[in-house]
Amino acid sequence: MNVADSQRLGSALEQLGLHSVPNPDTADVIVLNSCVVRQSAEDKVVGNLTSMKPLKSKNPERILALMGCKVGDKTSELARQFPYVDVFMKPQQYAPLLDIIGDRNQVDWEGCIGSLAPYEPDITCHVPIIHGCDLMCSFCIIPYRRGRQVSRPIEEIIHEVELLVQRGTKEVTVLGQTVDAYGLDLPNQPDLSDLLIQLNGIDGLSRIRFLTSHPSYMSDKIIAAVSELTKVCEHINLPVQAGDDEVLERMRRPYTQNDYRELVYKIRENIPGVSVSTDMIVGFPGETEAQYQSSLDLITELQFDKIHSAAYSPRPGTISFRTMDDDIPQEEKNRRLKNMDILQEEILTGINHSLVGEKVEVLVEGRKRGKLHGRTRTDKLVFIEESSVSIGSLQDVLIEKTSPWSLQGTTSSAS
Ligand code: SF4
Repeated sequence: MNVADSQRLGSALEQLGLHSVPNPDTADVIVLNSCVVRQSAEDKVVGNLTSMKPLKSKNPERILALMGCKVGDKTSELARQFPYVDVFMKPQQYAPLLDIIGDRNQVDWEGCIGSLAPYEPDITCHVPIIHGCDLMCSFCIIPYRRGRQVSRPIEEIIHEVELLVQRGTKEVTVLGQTVDAYGLDLPNQPDLSDLLIQLNGIDGLSRIRFLTSHPSYMSDKIIAAVSELTKVCEHINLPVQAGDDEVLERMRRPYTQNDYRELVYKIRENIPGVSVSTDMIVGFPGETEAQYQSSLDLITELQFDKIHSAAYSPRPGTISFRTMDDDIPQEEKNRRLKNMDILQEEILTGINHSLVGEKVEVLVEGRKRGKLHGRTRTDKLVFIEESSVSIGSLQDVLIEKTSPWSLQGTTSSAS
């Protein structure tokens, strides 16, 4: 979501006549887009902000902006801590910076800026379709920083994706904190499947993804849309967060582990070849060894294609921070995380190895360390041996080697 927000602000700045430079030393405007989902991310933001101070001293005319989840409703404390920062903006709140730039250049920015679709988009592009979140999971800071759920109108999203496709994008990932709740706050309540149907009809667009789903909103209609629409990729990220009902209740996740398990089985029954990934937190306040083991058992049973695992990190202001003791020592959280990651590695080794000898469709996205790379429809990273295929093309790739984290293959014997 932050990458998408940065690209959209970048598009607005370009429309005002600015262009990007590779080095902050030569920039007239520097925007730091911040994430505070965990303490380590917040520490990084503070480190980066501190390292910007000399840049401002060197050139006091340079505009420094802090955007994103580090910025809450009240900015006086941030202004006291970082007096050399010119402007603080909440997520997607671009206007304060545009006002400053407009004033300096004596232009009315509102008259200059149209769609925020990036001018030179990547082959794969992220498009936010729903901002904020109406759920209040006890560990999560996002609703406090990104606000309540607001869906963008379907027509606006379709127009933006059409522009992206005209500019070279082949794959879009539509984004939301609870993307499958899309439309519930709009008149006539269109849902994610209605949007997917319209996106599927856009000429020149090869693939559609959506991220991140919430188990409470994953309806049969959405599952049917993924199954039936040819451009919608067979991959669903469905965070479970814990495998124990008591922990789920304290996390304020409104489902049981059995509800979740049945939902995954239903998805797999209805979408052939689908990959399912998840998010898990270890060391939530009060999590016993047995409750942690239930998370490992669920992972073993459901054989996820990827797990975004994290140790619980108390975020000031959240419900768990205010009402629960962060009583699992850090070393114990680290041990639980490490063991979960070892289990994940074993599972992924097996899943990926089973693809050796298979042909998979890959959208070629670019070059990394001298090799072309792309993703399968099921969101697996693939490196392609030869270099003659063009970036942006869809290729059938014969998989020859695998690791837990990527696949490797060739197109020559596959085509
Ligand atoms: S659904 Fe996701 S974004 Fe919303 S509160 Fe829960 S964890 Fe945070």
